[in-house]
Amino acid sequence: MPDKRLLLVEDEPGLQLALFDRLTAEGYTVETAGDGNLAVTRATGEPFDVIVLDVMLPGRDGFDVAKTIRQQGVQTPILMLTARSQVVDRVVGLKLGADDYLTKPFETIELLARIEALLRRAPSSASGVSLERYQFGDITVDVRKAEVKLKGVALDLSAKEFQLLKYFIEHRGATVSRDELLQEVWGYSSMPSTRTVDVHVAWLRQKLEPNPRVPQFILTVHGLGYKFAG
Ligand code: CA
Repeated sequence: MPDKRLLLVEDEPGLQLALFDRLTAEGYTVETAGDGNLAVTRATGEPFDVIVLDVMLPGRDGFDVAKTIRQQGVQTPILMLTARSQVVDRVVGLKLGADDYLTKPFETIELLARIEALLRRAPSSASGVSLERYQFGDITVDVRKAEVKLKGVALDLSAKEFQLLKYFIEHRGATVSRDELLQEVWGYSSMPSTRTVDVHVAWLRQKLEPNPRVPQFILTVHGLGYKFAG
């Protein structure tokens, strides 16, 4: 994993040093911050590929740091470290903008795996393709916020319509069968019919297509299913 810049926010000197050494040995360029204020300064002032953020910090805590840097537009993936494992902490952390969680104590190999997973998930600037934000025609889709806008105006999509659209975007250019959509978007449990898929596709077209009767984004592939061409 060469050429990746990592901000390590940890106030315990021993742990900071141990993680610094290990992450550097793995090929990361590691910068450190030992308190919340410095963490905000660094995270908003320099580009990083990933931020490892301890929750319990002097100054301001990790939740506050995550919230503040997200408010300032920093989209860098955040892996939070906490000594507490309560569900409420996870929920609060994820709500405030953390992308993943690791409870102390942890194995270093687990930390490395989580960091690599975040880097894989992060939009690659090299490819220019971001699945977090996707645009086609006059439509913009913010996958993270589950928000779809037409010329900047929010569209009212049901949860299922959004999941269906998201699946189309993730598989754009590929023909997807009704059975695949049923399985992947609806799951086995609800037992809907393939007709359900057609109905939801029709609703999506009504909301997204300039001319729903002549779709240009969600195309019908006769006898096979659908293809997203956005
Ligand atoms: Ca700490």
